[in-house]
Amino acid sequence: LRREKKDINELIQGVLKGNKTALSQAITLIESRSKRHTDDIKTVITSCLPHANKSLRIGITGVPGVGKSTFIEQLGLLLTHKGHKVAVLAVDPTSSVSQGSILGDKTRMEELVQDPNAFIRPTASGESLGGVARKTRESILLCEAAGFDILLIETVGVGQSETTVHSMTDFFLLLKLAGAGDELQGIKRGIIEMADAIIINKSDGENVKAAKRAKVEFNRALHMYPAKQNGWFPKVKLASALNNVGIEDVWTMISKYAEIVKSNGFFEDKRANQNQFWLTQTIEDSLKREFYQNETVKAEFPEVLKKIQSQQISPFEAADYLLKKAKS
Ligand code: GDP
Repeated sequence: LRREKKDINELIQGVLKGNKTALSQAITLIESRSKRHTDDIKTVITSCLPHANKSLRIGITGVPGVGKSTFIEQLGLLLTHKGHKVAVLAVDPTSSVSQGSILGDKTRMEELVQDPNAFIRPTASGESLGGVARKTRESILLCEAAGFDILLIETVGVGQSETTVHSMTDFFLLLKLAGAGDELQGIKRGIIEMADAIIINKSDGENVKAAKRAKVEFNRALHMYPAKQNGWFPKVKLASALNNVGIEDVWTMISKYAEIVKSNGFFEDKRANQNQFWLTQTIEDSLKREFYQNETVKAEFPEVLKKIQSQQISPFEAADYLLKKAKS
């Protein structure tokens, strides 16, 4: 059923007043992506946009079991106690409805869920990364318009999801565990480069020694990269999310970062670059989708492919041919 204009305006007013039910409903609406909601979605986003952008967006990644939800709950509680309003979102392209999403598990973040100044939204599920990314970006705007000034955006280290979260956040945290030996093994190079800080979690009990060793190794690894243009050198910190140790220290570090990059202009620059990235990315995705959904392209594709495989035409010539076909 198509919503009445009045309902949409009420929904928007609810979001702008910080009503969590309205915020949930608005996110559900933008997630629906159904054609008949297109106008309503546009109205909601356009109305929220002028009220967005006033937050600090923190990306958090790490393998399953590293302690992300424990860490996010502690950090979230610390921040709400300091008077912030905290929204938690997730990017998880691997989840499906049957498996349950990373934030879908009701037992996670039990205390934060109850906090009136926290908003936790389970990830959109069973989607392409591009689709999830867009919904998350739009959800960020809605949360900000609703007055949430700290956004915690979680992802698991799967495929490109870290890059995606990195490209929508101001500060990127990598959670790690101390292992027995070579700490850097099995860690994707690109992630170290993206990280503004590495937190070695579960630094408690018998793990403390190994965690301290890991800290030295990660510090050494980080020093092999050239200094970032933003004037920030990535930090390595120890934490025990379970015992709530080191969390305040992490927040002090993030605040310091925000202070530095806001004063040297990098904060705004980075957001401007991210906006440009999402503009071009969305156009590229959309052109690609249009191309592959073109009836002529779909019909001729198998035949053209055969011709390439039997070396009658080159892949480049074939691509030119199909691109022309798509336009005609
Ligand atoms: P996630 O999959 O990354 O979200 O990890 P969880 O937060 O669900 O934590 C996985 C397991 O590790 C749970 O049993 C937690 O209680 C435990 N855990 C989380 N943080 C710590 C910590 O700092 N120290 C210890 N010893 N255990 C932790």
